[in-house]
Amino acid sequence: MATAPATIIHGPSAPPANMFDTVPGYEGTIAGGGGGYLPPPPPSVPMPVPEQAPSSPDWHIPSISEDRARESFATYVSSKCCYSSAPVKEGVITNMESFNTYRYRLETFMESRSTEWSQEPYTGQPVDAGVQPAPGPWQIAAQPPAFFQEHKQTIKVPYTSSVKNCHFCLGMGRNPCTTCAGAGNKVCWVCNGSGYRQSDDRCMHCNGRGRENCSSCSGSGSCQCDTCHGKRQLLVFINLIVKWSTEKDEFIAQDSSGLRVENLEKVSGKELFKDAQYMVYPVRGFPDVSVAQASERLVRDHQVKYAQTSLILQQRQTIELIPITKVNYMWKGKPYVYYVYGNEFKVNADDYPATCCCSVM
Ligand SMILES: [Zn+2]
Ligand SMILES: [Zn+2]
Ligand SMILES: [Zn+2]
Repeated sequence: MATAPATIIHGPSAPPANMFDTVPGYEGTIAGGGGGYLPPPPPSVPMPVPEQAPSSPDWHIPSISEDRARESFATYVSSKCCYSSAPVKEGVITNMESFNTYRYRLETFMESRSTEWSQEPYTGQPVDAGVQPAPGPWQIAAQPPAFFQEHKQTIKVPYTSSVKNCHFCLGMGRNPCTTCAGAGNKVCWVCNGSGYRQSDDRCMHCNGRGRENCSSCSGSGSCQCDTCHGKRQLLVFINLIVKWSTEKDEFIAQDSSGLRVENLEKVSGKELFKDAQYMVYPVRGFPDVSVAQASERLVRDHQVKYAQTSLILQQRQTIELIPITKVNYMWKGKPYVYYVYGNEFKVNADDYPATCCCSVM
């Protein structure tokens, strides 16, 4: 009869706070991150001076032909499995009007930095804590990617590495095996611990012991510590996490066509204006006042939102012209409307009269 071994539960435990030294300039750093982003130093370059207003773009209003409208309409209807094509074939276009609108987009590319205490098994790495003061988080050189490319880099902060006993195995290098709870053996799965099979045959699997060796720990009852990989000691240090990311905001001017603005979010337009520099200046003198206002507001918003916690490296603003054609047509004596919009000639036809092919035979 085997004795049930005491159950020792080894869940993942956070290292105790006293494991970390105090490093000047890194006081808020905690294990596992979550300490928030570190404010960057004030910009070393002066604020940008107003740029020239975008030169008068070419106000060519693209209009589409009736054939183009009809073709886009036919493609749209055939993409809907239940729509009848009768209104496309029999409908008569009575009027086509061009409505064009603008999309303003602002992108801000920035660098953010945060720190966290980390650890790794000690295998003789340099131990440099206190040798000299650690450089500040924004004094450490990182390798930025190309503008507007997302990237992340982790850098071990110099002069913060020290050696500590592993808190997880208390410096033993091994922990009790979780499979057999430290016993080194477990109930035989063939005879379920009795030592015998049906009748009086001895269990061949365990030779009648009723127990078998634990395969996880090869019968030893303990396993190598996962935290220190059996090295008994840990190198404890501060990691600097440098992140490059792009934040994007858009504004689409409302037009009078009746097509909902949300429809325009998925299409592209013709680029009228593009401006990329360290910090952009709001667009001035654009014919549509709401676009100029959106630029003013979004440039200010990005400054307020991101300059506190991140270093702005580059901004980019664009204005696109999105073509919209409203097509009025008659079918079976009644007026209907559809829209063709974007470079993709996307179609919207909310009042399509034959949405079920079975009912218009
Ligand atoms: Zn075991
Ligand atoms: Zn057995
Ligand atoms: Zn350990």
